[in-house]
Parts: sequence; C-alpha cells; structure tokens
Amino acid sequence: ARPVIAIVGRPNVGKSTIFNRVIGDRLAIVEDKPGVTRDRIYGIGEWNGRSFSIIDTGGIEIDGEDHILRLVRAQAELAIEEADVIIFMVDAKAGLTHADDEVAQMLFRSHKPVVVAVNKVDNMNRMDDVYEFYGLGFGQPIAISGSHGTGIGDLLDAAVEKL
Ligand code: GDP
Ligand code: MG
Repeated sequence: ARPVIAIVGRPNVGKSTIFNRVIGDRLAIVEDKPGVTRDRIYGIGEWNGRSFSIIDTGGIEIDGEDHILRLVRAQAELAIEEADVIIFMVDAKAGLTHADDEVAQMLFRSHKPVVVAVNKVDNMNRMDDVYEFYGLGFGQPIAISGSHGTGIGDLLDAAVEKL
C-alpha cells in the first residue's frame, strides 16, 4: 500500500486548493465512514519518484456539528490515525489562531511527522507573516500560495522526506 499524507487545518485555509494541485486528476476514493457525515477525499500524488495517497480532511463533520474546534479536532484525529506524514496547514493572512494551537497540541502528542504549510503567502517578499508559525514547534514552516502555486514543490520535498 502507498504511504499516506493527510492535510489538516481550519476551514478556509486552502486545504482543498493545495490537494487539487497535488493530485492533478488522480482522484482515488471518496469514502463515507460511520459517524462522519461528510466525505473524506483521497487522491494519488507523486513527487521525487515517490507515490503516495493524500487525504483532504476538509469535508469532515462529526454529527453535523460544525463548530470549528470540534471540526479540526476530528480532522486531526483522523490524520493521526491514518497518515504517515501530516501537512498542518495554516493561513498567513489570518495569522495564528486558538484552533491552530489546539491542533498543534494534538499533533505534537501523536509523535507523527508534521510539516507546517503556511498558505496564502501570495507575495514571497512578505515572509514576516510566516515567522510566527515557528512557534507551533514543528520546525521550519513552508511558505506556499495555492493561488499562485508557489512553494508546493518545497512542501512536497519536506513531506516526502519524512515518509
Ligand atoms: P479549505 O476550506 O481549507 O479546503 O480551503 P479552500 O481550498 O476551499 O480555500 C478557501 C479559500 O481560500 C478559497 O476562496 C480559495 O480560493 C482561497 N485560497 C486558497 N489558497 C489561497 C492562496 O494561496 N492565497 C489566497 N489569497 N487565497 C487562497
Ligand atoms: Mg476544503
């Protein structure tokens, strides 16, 4: 079986945008699970000669509950269960939030390899927005832009290296 990379993060940080850029048209499975009212989406990615499954956790809603903290906690639990490497996506425009800190603590306790992707860095001269995410404790955050497609190679380098 292929190794698994999961993308977790708050709603609207750009998870699905990046997921779609990584998989191209290699959408694999859309799966329903008991207790999960929305689909999670699997795709196939390939980078540096490595093939992997990638999960966009963004569609998950537990029991119809859409409170952000519950939502991202459920995503993080799923990623911790299933993934070999977790891409923890945050939003440079929104900055660091309480929900980000909650997810970071869960991921930290799991001891799974984590790469922090700071999305919406549309202007790579504005790296100041990235530094605060060092504080999450997962090493160097990778600046990316889903809109422009920049930084995604660096992100995949970092993620595949940890597989
Ligand atoms: P998700 O909820 O985490 O899956 O986020 P989406 O991929 O659906 O994106 C949420 C919104 O952010 C959409 O309106 C995207 O067009 C926008 N978005 C995604 N990536 C970027 C980016 O790099 N820069 C900017 N400015 N907007 C982005
Ligand atoms: Mg999404």
